[in-house]
Amino acid sequence: MRLILMGPPGAGKGTQATSVAEHFGIPAISTGDIFRANVSAGTELGVTAKQYMDAGEYVPDEVTNEMVRNRINEPDAEPGFLLDGYPRTTAQVTELDAMIVATGHRLDAAVCLTVDSEELVARLLKRALTDGRADDTEDVIRKRQEVYAAETEPLIGIYRERGILVEVDGMGEVVEVTTRVFAALDIIPES
Ligand code: ADP
Repeated sequence: MRLILMGPPGAGKGTQATSVAEHFGIPAISTGDIFRANVSAGTELGVTAKQYMDAGEYVPDEVTNEMVRNRINEPDAEPGFLLDGYPRTTAQVTELDAMIVATGHRLDAAVCLTVDSEELVARLLKRALTDGRADDTEDVIRKRQEVYAAETEPLIGIYRERGILVEVDGMGEVVEVTTRVFAALDIIPES
């Protein structure tokens, strides 16, 4: 199973990614989490990523692509993987296609969580209070939403055209959304 999980900042990707990946016995790979781990560890990658993340901008494609390539070539991702937060640009879509083709597999589905924009801001501001993430300030949240709309929203159309887009209502309780995601994925035809 090779899946991607899409949706705007605050849509609940990380939360749902964990449940879905566990269900399929595959790793949930979050580019945001990998960047944050590198920032905490003070690696070269972390130093590079931090300046973009703190500004609400995307880390450059070359940096992100190489990181994802290395990660999905790890043995635990051999049976499949769920990518949370990648791809986010059309250049990343092209790279991911090449990475998957190289393994002789295909992308099974692109799950997109949809959430009202007011609800998104409310969730992120709430997360700011509990998690204290450096990029959850109001200005940076707004910037992240702009970047998402400009760079990532167009990807939904790409996967819709390919016939692998699975849109899921991300409003409501976490467990309700999880139930919807599972229901939506069960109806993917085998081929
Ligand atoms: P969110 O989607 O809620 O903003 P993430 O934890 O997924 O948060 O990502 C945090 C930050 O990490 C992004 O704002 C961006 O700077 C960086 N990042 C994550 N994934 C990518 C990606 N695929 N391409 C470029 N930058 C990324």
